[in-house]
Amino acid sequence: MSAPNAPKPPSEASFTLSKRSLAAQALGHVDPVTRAVVAPLHVATTFLRDPDNGYSSGFSYARPDNATVREAEGVLAMLEEAGAGALLFGSGMAAATAVFTALEPGDHVVAPRVMYWGLKRWLTGEMPRRRIAVDFVDMDDVSALERAIRPGTTKLVWIETPGNPLWTVTDIAEAARLAHAAGARLAVDSTAASPIHTRPLTLGADLVMHSATKILNGHSDVVAGALMGAANDAFWARLTAIRAQGGAILGPFEAYLLMRSLRTLHLRVAAQSAGAADLARRFRAHPRVSHVLYPGLPDDPGHAVAARQMEGGFGFMLSIRVRDGEAAAIRAAARVRLWKRATSLGGVESLIEHRASVEGPDSPCPPDLLRLSVGIEAVDDLFADLDAALREP
Ligand SMILES: *Cc1c(COP(=O)(O)O)cnc(C)c1O
Repeated sequence: MSAPNAPKPPSEASFTLSKRSLAAQALGHVDPVTRAVVAPLHVATTFLRDPDNGYSSGFSYARPDNATVREAEGVLAMLEEAGAGALLFGSGMAAATAVFTALEPGDHVVAPRVMYWGLKRWLTGEMPRRRIAVDFVDMDDVSALERAIRPGTTKLVWIETPGNPLWTVTDIAEAARLAHAAGARLAVDSTAASPIHTRPLTLGADLVMHSATKILNGHSDVVAGALMGAANDAFWARLTAIRAQGGAILGPFEAYLLMRSLRTLHLRVAAQSAGAADLARRFRAHPRVSHVLYPGLPDDPGHAVAARQMEGGFGFMLSIRVRDGEAAAIRAAARVRLWKRATSLGGVESLIEHRASVEGPDSPCPPDLLRLSVGIEAVDDLFADLDAALREP
């Protein structure tokens, strides 16, 4: 039942195409019936059986698999160079939790202290009920990861890089080496890096997860998640079964919108990352800002590793710390007009959020921090809006 996810260049091409070209044409799919250059949206939940009762089309029912979902999975697998292919889920959380659901009672997990807070909360609440122990460590320090790994018992190392909302960087190749030496898998939440900047599977990771709600869809109108696997092994088969049997597949309308968005991913990531880098430089010199957290800044603690494992930019996310403290940060977020005061990230519209009040007391997030998701608006407008909001007495 695995999807035909290997990169499929247009059949006429006898040369190697770049990922950008393949994504722009959604792998060059042309509908065999109409010759349409956009794949049709498949909405059927059930499919005609063959006279001998088989399903020669490979489709039987829409919960385990869907042709529109497969189309988008093909593009994602190509972008991430995923040997096993891709699986789309109804949300990023559904994708992430599928990986932890595939573990066995008694297994041990090492996860980051700085990570997507919703998943951290789920791990803290759900893992003990399944008798799976989780240690949260500072992943920007590989020696902390090394100390936390229990050889033979640790079955999964989960990292997130850059890590939300401090944008700490984890060395993927080093984490893979440590995990594998202990008999564990490495999974990477690569939502903030996108497959344009980083391809964790090529650096030794076993699994990549994305909240496709974010930059992959990029238009703040789809909730979706994705897993990509390096090897079509027993663990990947288990993830496929967990999705098919548990019913966490993405709906075809959402898969269609995601597919449309992936065609412009390269352009959006390039523009949004360039904007973030520009704003990071400008806010670093701002009198009302004490710190800018962005791995693209040369003196950022994560810069050296980021420069090794990210290409074409350092991402569209940054955080600033407001010099006059929490109340001043909340006030600035209340005064912006162009930036939208909202959660989420990666959309074409820029978002600002005071994270500490969202994440609660267990958060590693300082109270004076504002998280910025940079969209595609003019950078001068974005700077002027937040500059005025920060300066207003
Ligand atoms: C949003 C997000 C998630 C969760 O994804 P949903 O699509 O909201 O379920 C996981 N990890 C990161 C880094 C995120 O930003």
